[in-house]
Amino acid sequence: GTPNVPDYIFAEKIGTGSYADVYKAYRKGAVREVVAVKCVLKSNLSKSALDNLVTEIGILKRLRHEHIVEMKDFVWDDKYIYIIMEYCSGGDLSAFVKSKQRLPEAVCQRFLQQLAAALKYMREENVSHLDLKPSNIFLKSHRNPSLKIGDFGLAQLMPEDDTNSTIKGSPLYMAPEIVLKRQYNAKVDLWSVGVILYECLFGKAPYTSKTMEELIGKIKKEKPIEVPYGTNISSECRDLLQQCLQRDVNQRIDFDDFFNHSFVDLEHKPGPE
Ligand code: ADP
Ligand code: MG
Repeated sequence: GTPNVPDYIFAEKIGTGSYADVYKAYRKGAVREVVAVKCVLKSNLSKSALDNLVTEIGILKRLRHEHIVEMKDFVWDDKYIYIIMEYCSGGDLSAFVKSKQRLPEAVCQRFLQQLAAALKYMREENVSHLDLKPSNIFLKSHRNPSLKIGDFGLAQLMPEDDTNSTIKGSPLYMAPEIVLKRQYNAKVDLWSVGVILYECLFGKAPYTSKTMEELIGKIKKEKPIEVPYGTNISSECRDLLQQCLQRDVNQRIDFDDFFNHSFVDLEHKPGPE
């Protein structure tokens, strides 16, 4: 049968994911709270998809933050597993950037601050997302473009110096050390943030290519990513981009310097007197 949860009225399908369909739904009752329900057909689940789902549920359960999609509940029946989440009516950041071509630096900076606030909290919880990209970041609404990080399907609980070496996620946003199957750590999320900021500013990712081979070729050329010249972005913004998009993880900005960077300015610290 079709997906169905007793306390909810299902409306239209709002997304198709790698292993799930996402529906808009309303909670029955006096106040019709609107939610997004990720429905996973159990018979479709491979071992690795089930692993991702279990991880996603476990991680979402422990995360509560203004800029992270809130999981309200999860339930199952004989056919489906359902993740009931806060609904983000503004769609995803990928569609938003495409509709605007590029975003003003001030908007990019506000988005970046929101992502940084979420990342800071995730650091405290030892969670790395590992698949940060515009299609996994949602806008609460169009009138209030507050970002929410979602889709924790590939996320991991990752202590600071633990290293991993499996390849998953989307190559365009993936740190070189993952694409090249080297060991990696939590700093891969900072690379992805750099790519996302770049795409918001310039309308496309710094590497674009039609095939995985071409992409790997581009990433292997140890040429630093150039921030396009002639674009009037501030020096703080340019500096942050270049520091996030360092191929060599040891050259890449670390989390503390990222949170304290003048363009991120998480604490809105007053300048020197
Ligand atoms: P997958 O792991 O399969 O990529 P996602 O969690 O990224 O699944 O969801 C797939 C799509 O469904 C998203 O790109 C988005 O368009 C839509 N979607 C997912 N969660 C929400 C939500 N909370 N609010 C609104 N739309 C959502
Ligand atoms: Mg996704």
